[in-house]
Amino acid sequence: MPLESFELDHRRVRAPYLRVAASAPGLTKYDLRLCQPNQEALPTAPLHTLEHLLAGLLRERLPVWDLSPMGCRTGFYLSVLAEPAPQEVLEAFRWSLTQVLEAGEIPGASPLSCGNAADHDLAAAQRWAAKVLERGLRVQETVRLDSLA
Ligand SMILES: [Zn+2]
Repeated sequence: MPLESFELDHRRVRAPYLRVAASAPGLTKYDLRLCQPNQEALPTAPLHTLEHLLAGLLRERLPVWDLSPMGCRTGFYLSVLAEPAPQEVLEAFRWSLTQVLEAGEIPGASPLSCGNAADHDLAAAQRWAAKVLERGLRVQETVRLDSLA
């Protein structure tokens, strides 16, 4: 079975966006893309800080199973134990980003509870959250590569 992400045409999406990447009964995986692929990427520190903040914030609004940063550093994968409408997830994501702007500290960022506690940047994470909110989040349809030669 081909990897879903390798079939997405990354030239024909417009970030920031939310996209349904995969689903199974009772489980939905979203592509939360903060940066335009192959044009920009989050540095590791703000990406890491956003992961810590969003992991808790999104759980206040959705039955989150997992939130993981993408290796390309352009966004996150979010898995939810339900099949909510994309618009509902988009609202939860938007709300979470507005809460990031208010955050005074990074949850779980001590060497006891994090694997790279030195690699955090709250101010930069807040600048990225503000930039995403400013640009405006939208629901993105999956645009598949025309051929996989
Ligand atoms: Zn960490």
